[in-house]
Amino acid sequence: MNNTNLTAYEARKLLKSKEVSSAELTTKALRQITENNEKLNFAISIELDYALKMAESFDKTACKGVELNSIQGLPIAVKDNICTVFSKTTCASRMLKGYVSPYNATVIDKLSDSIITAKLNMDEFAMGSTTETSYFGAVKNPHDIEKSPGGSSGGCAAAVAVTDALMTLGSDTGGSIRLPAAHCGVVGLKPTYGSVSRYGLIAFASSLDQIGPICKSVKDTAMLYDAICGHDKRDLTSIGREYPSALKCLTGNIRGLKIGVPDEYFTSDINEDVKTAIFKTLTTLEKLGAELIPISLKHAQYALSAYYIISSAEASSNLSRFDGVRYGYRRDDNSSIEELFVNSRTEGFGDEVKRRILLGTFVLSEGYYDKYYLKAKQTAQLIKSDFQNAFSAIDVIATPVSFNTAPKLNQKRSPVSVYSEDFCTVSANLCGIPAISVPCGFDKDSMPIGIQFMADSFREDLLLNTAYAVETELNLFQWARRESYVR
Ligand code: GLN
Repeated sequence: MNNTNLTAYEARKLLKSKEVSSAELTTKALRQITENNEKLNFAISIELDYALKMAESFDKTACKGVELNSIQGLPIAVKDNICTVFSKTTCASRMLKGYVSPYNATVIDKLSDSIITAKLNMDEFAMGSTTETSYFGAVKNPHDIEKSPGGSSGGCAAAVAVTDALMTLGSDTGGSIRLPAAHCGVVGLKPTYGSVSRYGLIAFASSLDQIGPICKSVKDTAMLYDAICGHDKRDLTSIGREYPSALKCLTGNIRGLKIGVPDEYFTSDINEDVKTAIFKTLTTLEKLGAELIPISLKHAQYALSAYYIISSAEASSNLSRFDGVRYGYRRDDNSSIEELFVNSRTEGFGDEVKRRILLGTFVLSEGYYDKYYLKAKQTAQLIKSDFQNAFSAIDVIATPVSFNTAPKLNQKRSPVSVYSEDFCTVSANLCGIPAISVPCGFDKDSMPIGIQFMADSFREDLLLNTAYAVETELNLFQWARRESYVR
């Protein structure tokens, strides 16, 4: 097995034709994960023994002529806020440092024939855009180790970029799948709210959180999405409907596709290289037969404020369960129960998490609920109507994922300046619609740039096919296959 940067789709073919075994794929992935992790810090735990045992037992069953029809036997890694019984789930927080969940997330059960190799680093409780808020230290970008991989699923994107055939699951509350995918030159899909079960995903903001794939290629992304979507009665927000195969929709034919290009996402804040790459990509799509249509999403400018109010409000409520009593970090020498709560939470949570809890508690408090929380919910409704109107005339909306490429690590930036990184991504979460980030170029320092497509609910097929056209036409993927990836 001499391939470098093998995609999961290709690996699956080799597995089917028995040119490679799951144990071989897994061994290679584990070696690459272990070696690269020393430099990049993308994994919180690596499941060497567990993964090899699973792969070997898979090979034994596969030998018995079991038909391989999905992602069985392939190496997977998941963000460390997705619960697994066979390893710790820390949420990159001191609060859950040694926590082992008594149950698997539904997505983990759905991947029971795949090989889970690692739990990946992230911003603490998924709050952040750079993966620097992790209790276990920042993740580094494989394209330039002085830069951030984006966040909060930075561990996923970095791991995918440097590991053969690896597919990962991240979570996206306001852009945490798409931003790291863009900054690391890989593909990230935030599915429609309700299409992938959240059961066993440690909640940040329940009305916005979605689990989704971060993979090397669009085909890998479609394959993993097909494997995890579907109704789950254990998640009350899960939607019961037909989920046709997304992989089967990948034709690359986008003739007649109507692409809306909203003014509001191309402001003067956008970096010139990013702007050029996005417009070049759009021109390419036009040549392939798509129609570009200027649109306006009038309330886009309020999306960030609405997002940070709603997500912090929900976080303050969700995180109240971490009190030092039921599970998680506990300070022992306290003189009262109040002190136990205060000390455990003070020491168990990092600064960014505390900031969100404070903000969330404030906007939900008496006298401010109407002024902030309710206003934010009303604003989200206006944003949703803008998108609904747009989708009555167009198929997909194209925007940047971020106005900039990956930022340098360790910058002393104000929280608001970091929050502004999410301008382009939060609306999809507020509206519950699917959105994808696919590589579309590089800046002058060879850092990857991503383009975002958004579509109406349950139109993952349109998004993935548009992304597939970009991937096939721009041929950037070949670049990512070069051997010495980590600089
Ligand atoms: N950067 C955003 C935040 O910190 C989004 C995080 C996410 O999607 N998990 O809230």
